[in-house]
Amino acid sequence: MILILKQGTSEKEAEPIKQKFEAMGIIIQEIKGESTRMIGFAGDTSKITDDDVTVYSCVERIMRVSEPYKLAGRKFHPQDSIFDIAGRKIGGGEFAVIAGPCSVETEEQILSIAESVKKSGADFLRGGAFKPRTSPYAFKGLGLDGLELLELARKQTGLPVVTEIMDSEYLEAFAEKVDIIQIGARNMQNFTLLQKVGELKKPVMLKRGLSSTIDELLMSAEYVIAGGASQVILCERGIRTFETATRNTLDLSAVPVLHAKTHLPVVVDPSHATGYAHLVESMSFAAAACGADGLIIEVHNNPEKALCDGAQSVKPETFDGLMKKVKKIRECVKNS
Ligand code: PEP
Ligand code: MN
Repeated sequence: MILILKQGTSEKEAEPIKQKFEAMGIIIQEIKGESTRMIGFAGDTSKITDDDVTVYSCVERIMRVSEPYKLAGRKFHPQDSIFDIAGRKIGGGEFAVIAGPCSVETEEQILSIAESVKKSGADFLRGGAFKPRTSPYAFKGLGLDGLELLELARKQTGLPVVTEIMDSEYLEAFAEKVDIIQIGARNMQNFTLLQKVGELKKPVMLKRGLSSTIDELLMSAEYVIAGGASQVILCERGIRTFETATRNTLDLSAVPVLHAKTHLPVVVDPSHATGYAHLVESMSFAAAACGADGLIIEVHNNPEKALCDGAQSVKPETFDGLMKKVKKIRECVKNS
């Protein structure tokens, strides 16, 4: 529900409306229009009648928002969100690249990869410490030791870190050590985790579920924002289809579709989307060309020996070349 206020409405006139409905448990969001002032109501607005709000003389009209995602949707926030995370900008034409290994393996491995991706111009370092593996016998990450190695890499290179949380048991450690908390595809609809991560009010990268629709992704983002976080980045990482030639099917049309529906930045993960290192470069170019706000790419200094996702990890030198070309594509898109 959006209340469009009469032109010239003062803060003093709008305040009692905000106070009354906030006390009823409604999430209030100021919406900046071109010249109009608006107030968005999110949460359970089903019991609010038109009369409940039109009694306020400063309310010109009411707009009911049909989409269930209000805080993530464009209607409540018409402008693109641009987030400043640890000094790096993302969204609304600001492009950011997250790169690093699938998992943190050793100190030497993470420091060496962090140094090389930084040299190539990456904005953030990725590296899994807690890994969601299909087989219970596969390497599941170094856990808290992995977080510490990421912290060390951050200190050494200055690159802010992105890593996945799987369990609310570790919320405190993530709050302290991580710049962007990743919620993986398999947990996209773990609603209690979404809410708890939201409550940390830290930047979050939410990956699209293996078989989730775009609207389901947006509803999950709504959970995180309703929980308290405002900086939520969405990630298209491929979805399950009948096709077996690639690990997943990269749904690049999700990028412009999401941009139409939400103000949140959208990044693309060509590594998990394709499953093959030789496909990462072309899909990165395509993502940059279709307007993605960034990329998350798996880079490993010894992919053959990687403990997780080696087949889809590019070598540092490939990443370096890719970055140069992506930059050119971005310039083209920006100036078009
Ligand atoms: C990852 O980023 O390493 C990962 C496990 O991704 P996803 O959740 O997209 O499978
Ligand atoms: Mn991986």
